[in-house]
Amino acid sequence: MKPKKLNPGLLWMQFEDVLAPRLGLTVFDRAVYSHLLRHSLVVGKLRLQFSVMSVAAKLGLSNGPVRQAVRRLDELGALRLLERSKTGHLVEMRLPENIRAIRLHKNGASTAVGAAGSAGEPPASTLEATDFLKTWALRKAIHDRERGACFYCLRRTPANVRCLDHVVPRVRFGRNSYRNLVSCCIECNTRKGDRPAADFLRTLYRLGRLTPAELDARLRALKDLAAGKRRP
Ligand SMILES: [Zn+2]
Repeated sequence: MKPKKLNPGLLWMQFEDVLAPRLGLTVFDRAVYSHLLRHSLVVGKLRLQFSVMSVAAKLGLSNGPVRQAVRRLDELGALRLLERSKTGHLVEMRLPENIRAIRLHKNGASTAVGAAGSAGEPPASTLEATDFLKTWALRKAIHDRERGACFYCLRRTPANVRCLDHVVPRVRFGRNSYRNLVSCCIECNTRKGDRPAADFLRTLYRLGRLTPAELDARLRALKDLAAGKRRP
C-alpha cells in the first residue's frame, strides 16, 4: 500500500488540535509520534524500523520514556507495533485521520465515535463491548475509577505519570475492556511488563511496597475487576 500525498498544513493542525488533546498525549508521546511520522509517512514510507536508543538519543530523552511512548501510541492506535526484537521495533504509522479513536472531517474537525460519545457513560448493555481505549473520555473513566492512585502500588499518580495498563497483556489477547484496564503509575506499568498481575503484586509485597493487608486487598480487587464488579 502506497501512502497518499500529504497536506502538511492540515496534518500539522490535525496533530496539534485534535490528535494530541483527544488522545491525551504526553509531551513524550507527542515528540515520539512526530519524530516517527517524520521518518515514515512524511517521506512516503508506511513502515519504519528503529531502535528505542537511537530515537531517545535524537530526541534528547532517556530510553524509558521513549519505550513507554511507543507502547502508549500502539495502545491508542496511533501506530501499530509489528515486531519487537533486540535489533529494534518495526512499526506501521497511522495518520491522525486514520486513527480509530478519532474521526476527522475534511476540514480537520473531529467527532467522537462509539456509543459512549464524549459523555463517557456507555449504557449498561454496551458496557461489556466497549473499547475503553477508544476515546479520551473512556480512558478518563478508567483513571477516575482508581481515584488518582496506582492500581498496583497504591501511590498517588498525578496525570502526567499515569497510564492505562492491560492486566492481561495484549500479547496474551487481553482486551480493552473495563475488566482488563487499570490506571497505574508509569513505573509499575514498565516493571510489570507482560507478567501476570498477581505475580507482579506479590513482587511489590516482597519489595516492601505493599503491606500484607494491602496485598490481600489488591488481589481481591484483581478478582473483582475480572468479575466485572469494578465498573467505571
Ligand atoms: Zn504503581
